[in-house]
Amino acid sequence: MPNYRWLCLFCDRGNSEKVENCEFCGTNPTATGWEITAREFADKNILNKKESFSCEICSSGVHEVNYSEDPVEYFETRGKQPLFRTMFILTKCKGCEHQLKKEYSTPLLRKIYRFIFGHDIKSEYWKNK
Ligand SMILES: [Zn+2]
Ligand SMILES: [Zn+2]
Repeated sequence: MPNYRWLCLFCDRGNSEKVENCEFCGTNPTATGWEITAREFADKNILNKKESFSCEICSSGVHEVNYSEDPVEYFETRGKQPLFRTMFILTKCKGCEHQLKKEYSTPLLRKIYRFIFGHDIKSEYWKNK
């Protein structure tokens, strides 16, 4: 944690040097672009409350936000081999542990599969592709 007061990169609010993550939304003080992007997505598409970023159960605004896998690996190895895995963004409320997830990115091949067969890929085999 920084040893000075810091401004949250996501919600722009000031935090004391004593807190490890933003006390208003849970963002890490050294958040990367990936983390901010995930939070913006969660804010618009999962938590749906622009001003407060709040939980529908307990209304806590502090959330952990994660990708379902390393986004650098997911997006940057994409050109090398066909990709079937769907990328999710997951949120976890710090107040009540309520968890939500939503599809963030679906590879074209998987979309085609869904279109042709009318359902999603179920085979375990594709989880590693
Ligand atoms: Zn914040
Ligand atoms: Zn909650």
